Amino acid sequence: MSETKDLLITNVRPVDEQRDGSETVAIRIRNGIISDIIQDGPGPGVSGTVSSESGEDVPVFDARGAYVSPGWMDMHVHLREPGYEHKETIRTGCDAAANGGFTAVACMPNTNPPIHTRDVVSYVLRQAQGLAVDIYPIGTVSKDRAGKSISEMADMKEGGAVAFSDDGDPVQDSRLMRTALEYAAMLDVPVINHEEDLPLSRPGHMHEGRVSTRLGPAGTPSIAEEVMIARDILLSELTGGHVHVAHISTRKGVDLVREAKRRGLKVTTEVCPHHFDLTDEEIERHQFHTNWKMHPPLRTADDVEAMIEGLQDGTIDAICTDHAPHSVDEKDVEFIYAPNGIIGLETAWSIICKQLIMDGKLTLQDAVRKLAVHPRTILRIPVPKLAAGEPANLTLFDTETEWVCTPDSIRSRSVNTPWLNEKLKGRAVAIYNNNQFVKTGTPR
Ligand SMILES: [Zn+2]
Repeated sequence: MSETKDLLITNVRPVDEQRDGSETVAIRIRNGIISDIIQDGPGPGVSGTVSSESGEDVPVFDARGAYVSPGWMDMHVHLREPGYEHKETIRTGCDAAANGGFTAVACMPNTNPPIHTRDVVSYVLRQAQGLAVDIYPIGTVSKDRAGKSISEMADMKEGGAVAFSDDGDPVQDSRLMRTALEYAAMLDVPVINHEEDLPLSRPGHMHEGRVSTRLGPAGTPSIAEEVMIARDILLSELTGGHVHVAHISTRKGVDLVREAKRRGLKVTTEVCPHHFDLTDEEIERHQFHTNWKMHPPLRTADDVEAMIEGLQDGTIDAICTDHAPHSVDEKDVEFIYAPNGIIGLETAWSIICKQLIMDGKLTLQDAVRKLAVHPRTILRIPVPKLAAGEPANLTLFDTETEWVCTPDSIRSRSVNTPWLNEKLKGRAVAIYNNNQFVKTGTPR
């Protein structure tokens, strides 16, 4: 870890609840704390170092008009450690997060062993010490992630778990979900459910619809997701527990959440960039390349439109990536045998730019709410502020930089992304967090 406790960031445009990116400022960081936000501060062209009042050299970063916001958080990430370190480790996952502009991630417990006891929660937190990215472990809902009996939720929360989920699998058993939500209500934490009714969805390999019928593989119908969302909304109403619908992907699913929110229920949701950018047609176009296989599957153009509407009207609270690294060997098999999931941390902002920002579907302020604010309010984590006296936890980003997502540019240990070798536009520029300044796009 290399520390940059003092830093002057010049020529940067703040985006937060108060500011929309139209003013240019300089931000002075001292000892990891924002000491000053200087209006009309040192303009472009200042670089190298400046002297502080005490005469020490302070490094200067000319942001060249990039935006700055409170540090982003991805609340749905698979870091694979412990157990699957050939796919990703806590350290490489953090490198990927920083390279994508995230200063925090919440990691899913489908590791080996699963994050199902306080010991494993502590292990993850120990591994994360000293990193530029904050790691928030999510504990399992069920013991051994087996879906049978409830885990030691209170003990894990005490140890630092911020939410509970059996993600990768749904909590299929309704009685177990009811119990989990009763505990969640007492502990004031969300239960994040992977919404899938297994008897309805299995053995689906892609979205059930026109394309799957034409191509052949068994499909996963939208109804498998929607039935489970409906159940969880009812159980949330019954128990008062907070249900967070993971990686929503269908129009009716969004409708159900919209209606639940209208009724004032404790229901929130998130969407992944691939579900508001890609459709099942891509599987045909890319001849069953497994980088287009994930769960929930890519659905239809109408569903993509519903995701964007849900983001616009506030039904969808957060944008997450469901970053799911798999090794080349694991993905290099026939489509129906390949594991589900793609990496997403490093391409998320470019896809948000392309689909939401460029044609004005979402403002920068809205995007920052869904990337920095809501993930933390959902998980009851304090939201960083761009203000003097606050710890510097921030993301610098632009909407202009053109780049190609090559294996060399990726910091994740895996490269399973549908945007591999694609030309993208808009990029995270750097993050500052935990006394560390990490520039993106620098050679590995
Ligand atoms: Zn999932």
